[in-house]
Amino acid sequence: MNHLFEQAFSMQGRVALITGGGSGLGLAIARSLHAAGAQVVLTGRREELLQEACKELGERAAYEVSDVSLDADCKALAKKVLDTYGRIDVLVNNAGKHVKKPVEQLTREDFQGILDVHLLGSFFLTQAFLPMMRAQKSGSILFISSMAATNALTQVAAYSAAKTGMLGLVRSLAGEVSIDGIRVNAILPGFIDTPMFRKATDTDPARYQKIMGHTPMARAGQPMDIGWAALYLAAPASQFVTGTTLVVDGGFSVGF
Ligand code: NAD
Repeated sequence: MNHLFEQAFSMQGRVALITGGGSGLGLAIARSLHAAGAQVVLTGRREELLQEACKELGERAAYEVSDVSLDADCKALAKKVLDTYGRIDVLVNNAGKHVKKPVEQLTREDFQGILDVHLLGSFFLTQAFLPMMRAQKSGSILFISSMAATNALTQVAAYSAAKTGMLGLVRSLAGEVSIDGIRVNAILPGFIDTPMFRKATDTDPARYQKIMGHTPMARAGQPMDIGWAALYLAAPASQFVTGTTLVVDGGFSVGF
C-alpha cells in the first residue's frame, strides 16, 4: 500500500464506537473501520449478537451492552470508553428501529419510542462523548439517517421525522464543534439489504416493487456500501468535510 493512501485511510490507533453494531449496517461499518485498523467497540442491547460479531471480527473488537435511549447508559458508556481506551475518535450513531403504520394508527408511544432511539438517543450519546473529543481536539461523529428524511415514504411518519431531525442535528452540531477539530456528518443510505429492510418489505411486495422501480440501479445496496462510506467520513481523507450528508442509494434520490 502506498504511503499517501495509508495516511488518508488508515484507522490504526483510532477508537470507534458503533451503536447497534451487532447487526446490519452497524456491523458493516464496524467491519470497514476494523479492516482499516481501528479498535472498534460495538454497542447494543443484545449481548449474544454483539459477542458473535466481536468473535468474527477478532482482535481489536470489543462490545458493551447499552441502550442508547437511556441517558444513564449513554453516560456510563462514555466513561467506560474513556477508562478503557483513553480516547474516542469515531462515534457512529447507527442504532435504530422501525414502526410502519398508517398515520391514523401511530400512537404517542410508537412516536416517542422512535424519537428516543434515533434522535434523542443519538443526541445524548453524542453529548456524552463530546468532552473527550473536545479535549483531544479531534473526532468524527456520524449519524445514519435515511431516504425517509428526504422522500415522501409512506407509513413511517415518526421514523421520517426522526431521520430528518438527525440532519438538523448534523448542521447544528457541526456549527458548534468543528472549531475544536470535531467533524459531524450524516450518511443517507438508500435501501440496503438488512434485517430491517426485509422486515419493512417482505410482507409488502408492492412497496418493494415501488422502491426498485424508482432506483436506477434496480437493486438494494449491500451493507458494506455503507461501511466504506463511513470509513471515508471517519478517516483523515475527509478532514475538511463537516456538516454534510453523503447519499449512498443506487440513484434512488434522482430516480424517475
Ligand atoms: P438492524 O435492525 O439490523 O440494526 C439496528 C440495530 O440497532 C440493531 O442491532 C438493534 O438491536 C439496535 N438497536 C435498536 N434499538 C436500540 C437501542 N435502544 N439501543 C441500542 N441499540 C439499539 O437495521 P439496519 O438496517 O442495520 O439499520 C441500521 C441503521 O440504518 C438504522 O438507524 C436505520 O434506520 C438506518 N437505515 C437503514 C436502511 C436499510 O435499508 N437497511 C436504510 C436507511 C437507514
